[in-house]
Amino acid sequence: MNKLQFHKLLAPGILALSLLQTVYADDRLVFPASMIDTQEHAYELDRSREFKIDLMQAVDPEFLATTLLSLLRQDARSCRESANTRKAKQILDDTAKALGIRSNIDQLPATVASFSDARKAEIYCDNGKTAPESGNLIAYIPGNISAPSWNLSFHLDTNQLLFDGFQREGDIIRPAAGTPLGADDKAGIAIVAEILRVISEHQLPHGEIRIVGLIAEEDSAAGAQLVEADAFRGDILISIDGTDPDEIGRAAPSMYNGFITVRTHTSHPASVDEKQSVSACAVGAQILRETGFRPDAHPPGHPNVVLHSYFTSCGLDKGLETAKGEPIASYQYNTISPFWTAAWQMRNLEGNAAAQTMVDRIAADIKRICAQAGAGRSQVECEISGADSPKLSGYVVAESAASIRMLKKGFEATAQKPLRITAKQFGGFNGNLIKARFDEEMIIVGTGADQIHTNEEKISISGMARVARGVLAAMLESYRYRSVD
Ligand SMILES: [Zn+2]
Repeated sequence: MNKLQFHKLLAPGILALSLLQTVYADDRLVFPASMIDTQEHAYELDRSREFKIDLMQAVDPEFLATTLLSLLRQDARSCRESANTRKAKQILDDTAKALGIRSNIDQLPATVASFSDARKAEIYCDNGKTAPESGNLIAYIPGNISAPSWNLSFHLDTNQLLFDGFQREGDIIRPAAGTPLGADDKAGIAIVAEILRVISEHQLPHGEIRIVGLIAEEDSAAGAQLVEADAFRGDILISIDGTDPDEIGRAAPSMYNGFITVRTHTSHPASVDEKQSVSACAVGAQILRETGFRPDAHPPGHPNVVLHSYFTSCGLDKGLETAKGEPIASYQYNTISPFWTAAWQMRNLEGNAAAQTMVDRIAADIKRICAQAGAGRSQVECEISGADSPKLSGYVVAESAASIRMLKKGFEATAQKPLRITAKQFGGFNGNLIKARFDEEMIIVGTGADQIHTNEEKISISGMARVARGVLAAMLESYRYRSVD
């Protein structure tokens, strides 16, 4: 049943119901349990709490610019982030001293040193060649009121090749020629520092705040693979690692990848029987067509799914081909290709259950196509690997979730442009692992950076200030609620 039908059916009662729900939603926040914290947390609005602060004045774009410029100078390639980690720690310690911040760099490199070679290969950067040099940065600020706790995270590594020569032109900071800037994700660090500076300087009451800086996000995700659970406690978890400062990402895709193989028994031209033999190439082409694989595009009716085969290999003969060089499924024509394989990948933002359903459907389609291809002919064996479980587990946070409601209120209260709360194909690499390991769902917030991962990368200082204001306003909105646990 869609929403419209629901309204039609329940027209007289629906208004009162939704009104009640709205009041309820505004009066009460409930944050779900996770593997880290098996209790859900409930909070109720305390109408005596009002925080009056002009965030347009309080947030200082110059502090943001100065902090970012000092970070941009630190080497931060994946698994070589030590200089940047130490700098970030020093900035947070200095800025949040009066808040009683306790920070440390975890023992990740020592932990990895004790691993087997096979496990090391999964953690090291540069295809298993470079051991991580730095630990993750973990910080904790005790709360001084009963209020929801926040977890602010960023990653410590960048795609920078050079660590000087960047230029500030008014509101914009640009990289030197031939290197990405590294605002992804050093801007995340600067924004967190500014949030803490404002809370400290204006002595704003606050709940517990945790801060996590993860290493090697751009490579092996070593930081997210190994960070301790306790670091990721929190009612509202945000990763300040997006781009558009007026966009909040509430989803991360499920990722599956593996191989599809087709084997037939027509291995030698001399043994080919025109009527009995089956071309593996032809069956493979039919599988790609009928199961919805498109080169870097979406299967029909699924705008939030990318399903593609990025490598196919076809047996001996070429047979009929399309203009793109794909073999055309004609059992009669292709007779002597005994083996076909394709690497497949799916990124699905419809949630983990929907992604698994789609993968199950693909596997069933492959089975059916192969059975049909082999019916009355020689046997066709088809196999799909990687379909049993996602490589990365995806999630979609409901728009009605308490965390999204607080962020929406905060960003809208301080907005200059309309806010977009989206579930689309971006980022969430660390978010995926944090979800899979701890069942905690990070929300992705922008930084003001643009064209990341390219030599055109730049960042808007006013964009960073916009994010700092939005997050601060959302935190203050949440601080009007006290725990009822
Ligand atoms: Zn990033």
